Amino acid sequence: MLEFLRPDLVEFVAYQAHPGGELPTGVEIDRLDTNECPYQLPEALKEKLCLTYQNLIETNRYPGGDHTDLKRVIAQYVNEACSAIANGTAEAIAPGQISVGNGSDELIRSILIATCVGGRGRVLVAQPTFGMYGILAQTLGIPVERVGRSPKTFEIDLDAARQVIAQAQLTPSPVRVVWMVHPNSPTANALTTAELNWLRGLPSNILVVIDEAYFEFSRRTVVGELQARPNWVVLRTFSKAFRLAAHRVGYAIANPELSAILEKVRLPYNLPSFTQAAALAALAHRRDLLAIVPEILTERDRLLQQLRALPGLELWDSQANFLYARLKGAANTDEAMAHLVQQLKQQGTLIRHTGGGLRITVGTPAENARTVDRMRVALAQTVASR
Ligand SMILES: *Cc1c(COP(=O)(O)O)cnc(C)c1O
Repeated sequence: MLEFLRPDLVEFVAYQAHPGGELPTGVEIDRLDTNECPYQLPEALKEKLCLTYQNLIETNRYPGGDHTDLKRVIAQYVNEACSAIANGTAEAIAPGQISVGNGSDELIRSILIATCVGGRGRVLVAQPTFGMYGILAQTLGIPVERVGRSPKTFEIDLDAARQVIAQAQLTPSPVRVVWMVHPNSPTANALTTAELNWLRGLPSNILVVIDEAYFEFSRRTVVGELQARPNWVVLRTFSKAFRLAAHRVGYAIANPELSAILEKVRLPYNLPSFTQAAALAALAHRRDLLAIVPEILTERDRLLQQLRALPGLELWDSQANFLYARLKGAANTDEAMAHLVQQLKQQGTLIRHTGGGLRITVGTPAENARTVDRMRVALAQTVASR
């Protein structure tokens, strides 16, 4: 080992989007392992963006660093999509409360830098959940506390969470941040009233992050409560319903004081010019782009029913654009699930084996039909191999 390296990073296993193995040839490849929208931007919008690139973007110039236009339009979108703000019962979000990042991944890192770095604190996550919170914390040398969830409903073990927080508060490294996904990935359940009440009751020296990456599918948001809670921040992304995963744009909605710090710690030119143009174009056409959401939700419910009809698979209701499944009963071992994922992959369908279960993205109608067919085959092979 090179002596100047941090030993904890040498040991550390990085995130892999599509872990290992060859893809088959001669079959349709369905990438249902990263929860993207199955559709690209419409052709006409792509052409418009090409023209923007050709005519407006000066490739020799650094991108705009203050994101003024983008923040203004994001705030507009956030406000119109929050019923409490739209009907006047909650105060609107101002552009100065928005911070944009190179994907919400960058914002996760900025939040960690702003709160915990240098031995100042640790973070709390409820497993299973989105892996980047723990991964990015570890790369910054920040300790991660993990509590569990109910194996049936995936509700957070709140007693354990209270205990972890109480114990850590007595140390020089208290819990500074609690990470929540609403609805959670990979389990697709939204926060319950009890969980939200627990979050509301956390002391003001703990930052509550509510990641609403799947907001456009769930239509659930806590944005209406944000102005009353300076220790809450909401994360959103353009990588899912807005179809811009290739461009890397996420945003945080926060108290202005926190937003100002997030702006200080980010890289000066974190969003390339073309990425900013793409986000602005997607927002300008948000009605058209989001018109696909009802189709995906209908497809989700159909896929859920059809997969539930297969023997051996247990599935949960979903508030997002993906499903969470496990093998029934004693057959639900990591080894059997890895085998199943492999059997699906050999047929061309990629899904994700994570958090003790299987996460399946809802695709196009054709992809979903293949998912059911291929899952039937894979289940039979997995049972036969036991
Ligand atoms: C997909 C996803 C994101 C998006 O991350 P980006 O960096 O914006 O692409 C964030 N949080 C969760 C929980 C996700 O599932």
